[in-house]
Amino acid sequence: MTRIVVLGAGYTGMAAAIRAARKSRRHGGRVTLVSASPRFTERLRLHQTAAGQRLADHSIEDVLAGSGVAFVQGWVEGIDPQAHEVRLGGGRVLAYDKLVYALGTVTDVSVPGVGEHAFRYDDHAGAVALAERLRSTRQGTVVVAGGGLTGVESATELAEAYPRLRVVLLSRGRPCSMMGPRARAHAERAMRRLGVEVRQDTQVVKVLPDAVELEGGERIDSVATLWTAGTRGLALAREAGFTVDARDRIVVDAALRSVSHPDVYSVGDAAAVSQPFGVMHGTCQGGIPTGLHAGGALADEVRGRTPKPFRFGYFHQPVSLGRKDAVIQFVRADDTPRKGWLRGRWAIMYKEMVSGSPIHSFKLLKRGLIPAAALKLSSG
Ligand SMILES: Cc1cc2nc3c(=O)[nH]c(=O)nc-3n(C[C@H](O)[C@H](O)[C@H](O)COP(=O)(O)OP(=O)(O)OC[C@H]3O[C@@H](n4cnc5c(N)ncnc54)[C@H](O)[C@@H]3O)c2cc1C
Repeated sequence: MTRIVVLGAGYTGMAAAIRAARKSRRHGGRVTLVSASPRFTERLRLHQTAAGQRLADHSIEDVLAGSGVAFVQGWVEGIDPQAHEVRLGGGRVLAYDKLVYALGTVTDVSVPGVGEHAFRYDDHAGAVALAERLRSTRQGTVVVAGGGLTGVESATELAEAYPRLRVVLLSRGRPCSMMGPRARAHAERAMRRLGVEVRQDTQVVKVLPDAVELEGGERIDSVATLWTAGTRGLALAREAGFTVDARDRIVVDAALRSVSHPDVYSVGDAAAVSQPFGVMHGTCQGGIPTGLHAGGALADEVRGRTPKPFRFGYFHQPVSLGRKDAVIQFVRADDTPRKGWLRGRWAIMYKEMVSGSPIHSFKLLKRGLIPAAALKLSSG
């Protein structure tokens, strides 16, 4: 018997666990999935949660039903890679032969006040807390810090849901800078239409309980500040002795195994995965293929085979702009924009398909079917 323990039941841990169980069960693989909450968080929709929308509740047990994966609810406190053990809250210890580290990332709180005063998308509760704050707020300014795709999705969603509030998006560079000019112009038009005030080339130096302070001393009063300007891995990978990058993500080899501890795979946001175009950045688009790959590679190892290298190419940048608009930028494998893009009704449908597809994919995976899109993405 080979004990495979998967840490983290986000999109990537779920994909890894279901695929590993499906492919290794007949050869003695026994998969246990550990995660903090019994609820499966659709992280792709946290900006919708922040805007007060009621979304479907998925329990991890339900998603896993019939997959052969055992679920353990617990908070991972530490890993001892020499003893092959994971320490959970409450003193419980889980032994493993192979480990998948899929604990994602948390908000980088290095700017003073972010950890204490900013709302963050670290978990479902963080988005719910923001929704509760805004529901009871009659007027004032909501500051969204970070002009990446999550910041733009959040600013537009909040502006549409709470028209009585002023929404200010603060960005170090130009928002949606990774998109092509036409898709970016569409996102900018949507932000203007929804009344989002964009301040680019701005650096926040401090978050206060009721304001943010900018470089140069300017202060913007704020009833709530949402921080989307950077993430990093949990300290526990570094503390356990794994080789990590500057953002505490586990550095992996071509097959997604830790370069320092090859019996440990790392996937999704928690992994620093090198491809010919550079190190992948955290997306579900790239994360699910890493989970699928690790699940398959583990099954290969259980059967005495050598795991294959992982190859990936980006495909799109899907961005919602509230519930009534969206923009999709199609990209080359290295995430640089192609000519093609979508907006309006087609883009809304496309984005909804992207956000809803992981739950459907897990159902297919349980039957041994890998969604064609995921295979296409992971074949580079
Ligand atoms: C608002 C928003 C919109 C996004 N939109 C897109 C998009 O359109 N397309 C796209 O590709 N990507 C998008 N992303 C990024 C995408 O959500 C992430 O890349 C993806 O969720 C990473 O999956 P993961 O499994 O690696 O990590 P996560 O989804 O973060 O899962 C980590 C899991 O580990 C658990 N965990 C963490 N710490 C512990 C611990 N110590 N003990 C036990 N359990 C623990 C968590 O509870 C969670 O279950 C978006 C992100 C946000 C916030």
